[in-house]
Amino acid sequence: MTEYKIALMPGDGIGPELTEATLKILKVVQENFDITLNIVPAEAGDEVFKKTGVALPESSLKIIRESHACLKGPVGETAADVIVRLRLLFDLYANVRPIKAFPNAPVAHPDIDMIFVRENTEDVYKGLEYSIGNDTTICLRVITRKNCERIAKRAFETAMSRPKKKVTAIHKANVMRITDGLFKRVCQETAKNYPNIQYNEMYVDAATMHLIRTPQDFDVLCTCNMFGDILSDEAAQLIGGLGMAPGANIGNNFALFEPIHGSAPDIAGKQIANPISMILSAKMMLDWIGEQYNDPKCLKAAKAIEKATIQTLINGITVPDLGGNVSTQQMAQAIATAIQNLSP
Ligand code: ATP
Repeated sequence: MTEYKIALMPGDGIGPELTEATLKILKVVQENFDITLNIVPAEAGDEVFKKTGVALPESSLKIIRESHACLKGPVGETAADVIVRLRLLFDLYANVRPIKAFPNAPVAHPDIDMIFVRENTEDVYKGLEYSIGNDTTICLRVITRKNCERIAKRAFETAMSRPKKKVTAIHKANVMRITDGLFKRVCQETAKNYPNIQYNEMYVDAATMHLIRTPQDFDVLCTCNMFGDILSDEAAQLIGGLGMAPGANIGNNFALFEPIHGSAPDIAGKQIANPISMILSAKMMLDWIGEQYNDPKCLKAAKAIEKATIQTLINGITVPDLGGNVSTQQMAQAIATAIQNLSP
C-alpha cells in the first residue's frame, strides 16, 4: 500500500476549526479506501510569526519539501508572507478554483459549474512597489510569455476534460495594451492548438457583469493573477459564499490545496464556519495525488468526498452560512458518516 506524506498547515482564524473538520474526513477516507496519509503538521502564519518573528519557518519548508502534497488552512495578517511566498518558492503557477452549485446551497443558478485557472506567480503580486517622494507610488505589473503560455495551456487542458469544453480569457487589453496584450495574444495562439475547445474573450469589467447575469454560461475562466483573485471571490457568492469554494495551487511536481477565503476573524472560534471549502480542497488534493501517482484509490476517495458532501446537503444538514443550524464539526461528522455509508 502506498503512503503519501502530507504537510498540514492549519493556519489562523477559522483555519484550525476547518482543519479539525477536514481531518475527520481524511480519517474515514483512509479507513475506507485503503489509503495511508502520513499527515505532518507544519507551522505557518500569524501565531508562529508572533512567537518567532517568521511567518513561514525553515522547519515548515523542510516538511513541505519532503511531502507529496500540502494542505493548508487560511492564514491571517501574514497571508502574503506565507502563501505568496510558497507559490513562488515551489513555482505553483496555476491557481485552480472550481465554483460549482451544490444542491440545497443558496445558489444563483443551479447549473453553475465553472473553474478559474488563474496565473499564480506574477502580475502585480510580485510585490514590486515603490515610492517616489511622499506623494507618488508605483506598482509594477509583470506579465511574461512563459507564464502566459503555461496558464493558457493548463486552462485549455482543463477544458478538454469538462463537458462544456469552453475557455474564456479575461483581460483588459484595451487599456493595458502591452501586458494584457501579451496575455491575450498567447491565449489566442494557444487556442489554435485546441480546435475542439470553444474560445472567447471578455474584458474584466464585462466578466464581472456576466458572472452575475449569466453565470451558468461560463466553463473555464483563464485569468492573470489579480483579476482571477477578485473574480473568484465574486463567483463564490453565486454558490453560497466563500465557504463553498476550494482551491489548488499547482506546479509541475508539487501542489498545495487551500480554501480560497481568508481567515475570517469575524467568525473564528464560534464553530459556525462552513468546512466545505477545506473539505473540498482535500478532495482536490486526493484527485491530484490520484492523477500524479496514478492511484485509482485516491481518485475513488475524492469522488466519495464530493458525493458525501452532496448527500449531506440534500439531507438538509448545513451550517448557518447555508441556512442550517449545525456546527462546523457536526457538518464534517455528517459528511464523514455519509462517506462510510457510501463505501462498499
Ligand atoms: P482575511 O483578512 O484573512 O482575508 P477577511 O475576513 O477579510 O479575512 P475572508 O476571511 O476571506 O476575509 O472572509 C470574508 C467574509 O466571508 C467574512 O465575513 C467571513 O466570515 C466569510 N467567510 C469566509 N470563509 C468562510 C467560511 N468558511 N464559512 C463561513 N463564512 C466564511
